[in-house]
Amino acid sequence: MKRIILHWTAGGHTPSHLDLEHYHFVIDGAGKVCNGKWPVEANRKPVKGQYAAHTLNCNTGSIGVAVAAMAGAQERPFDAGRSPITPEQVEALVRLCRDLARQYGIPVTRETILSHAEVQPTLKIKQRGKWDITWLPGMALPGDPVKTGDYLRGLIAADTRPVPEPARPAAPAPADDVVVKPSGGLVALIAAAIAALGALAGGLFDGWLK
Ligand SMILES: [Zn+2]
Repeated sequence: MKRIILHWTAGGHTPSHLDLEHYHFVIDGAGKVCNGKWPVEANRKPVKGQYAAHTLNCNTGSIGVAVAAMAGAQERPFDAGRSPITPEQVEALVRLCRDLARQYGIPVTRETILSHAEVQPTLKIKQRGKWDITWLPGMALPGDPVKTGDYLRGLIAADTRPVPEPARPAAPAPADDVVVKPSGGLVALIAAAIAALGALAGGLFDGWLK
């Protein structure tokens, strides 16, 4: 597989049957990952009617991942609608992308892990006014597609850093010598990143809330 494309469903927080037909994975409002109807492999060489059709003219080699959210949302004037993306969905999306990137050997770049809103500006494949995912919890307004994508890629890449090797003593390691991941977890990382971006208000993002 060549790339991962990130979407929102424009529906409620529970994936519908239609959502599951169009994406390989759909994340519900609580952050649970639901498998879609078609396996990822169905999009290697799509056969008519038997693959996840998620991005216009860009489904071959593309894994489609969606958060079930943004029913009734409107870009301008901005309204997040009845089911805005939840922080749990952002965390699950980042973890899922990390896992898929590892599994399929997909690098974290603007061309290979991108939102639907980035497909037109970055891959030059025309879409019909798609703005998923240009808004995330904590943002006052939708942001620039690529900058919002860069933010998500930053979280995905941060989460793919190898766990540092602990300093090994010369003597045999004690039985409880286990590799510990950096503490704080992804939620704390996201919160810190959002806070940091908020501090740069007017800089990187126009739309971030303090
Ligand atoms: Zn989309």
